[in-house]
Amino acid sequence: RNWGESGLPDKLLRIVEQVGYNEPSAVQRAAIPIALQARDLIGVAVTGSGKTAAFLLPLLVYISALPPLDTPNRKADGPYALILAPTRELAQQIEVEAIKFAAPLGFSTAVIVGGHSIEQQAHALSAGPEIVIATPGRLLDCIERRLCVLSQCCYVIMDEADRMIDLGFEEPVNKILEALPVGNEKPDTDDAEDPLAMSRGQYRQTMMYTATMPTAVERIARKYLRRPAIVTI
Ligand code: AMP
Repeated sequence: RNWGESGLPDKLLRIVEQVGYNEPSAVQRAAIPIALQARDLIGVAVTGSGKTAAFLLPLLVYISALPPLDTPNRKADGPYALILAPTRELAQQIEVEAIKFAAPLGFSTAVIVGGHSIEQQAHALSAGPEIVIATPGRLLDCIERRLCVLSQCCYVIMDEADRMIDLGFEEPVNKILEALPVGNEKPDTDDAEDPLAMSRGQYRQTMMYTATMPTAVERIARKYLRRPAIVTI
């Protein structure tokens, strides 16, 4: 039961080792191989389970397969991946974890949350981060003011979905998912769930982590996830 069985590429395994995560946690063992197959996923897991790395590592594999975001036009098309979180504090914690793995690969992040200057965040977005970590209210504000473009964002994670609902974010979450360029209407055969097809912007891969499954969370899952695998820790 070690990282070698996770299916992660060697380059990431070396980074994981440098970060000092000797063994994958239960949610990492279960969720990473599923996410690497480009499947949608619902992870029922709490903070402390290692869920953040469980969704970040496959996200980095996905981004690594895409053209570098280093041309002005690609940057203008916005990030490749989006992580939605209920609170500023959680978004910042996710960024700390993301930087550990993303920085050695040359990828960058921006955090879009309430309570900070929107101009500064627009500036951070214009620098062309591959990954955006955001709270729903502020992100929707940025989208509506055309400060944030998500036209090539095909990889989406909703973290602590139940808390996002508790904090009244069902409507902004819906609007953000509707604003994304592509849906996740993959054909029903498994061989069509091809990460390369996704990288060409045909489908969205959507994942949700939540501690509980109230009706409103199920409603979002039914609307925006396609045939999700369910991992319960
Ligand atoms: P999370 O549940 O994602 O908030 O992670 C809880 C804490 O566990 C964080 O401080 C992570 O840095 C740490 N962590 C996550 N995965 C591992 C692992 N495989 N080995 C050791 N620490 C880990």
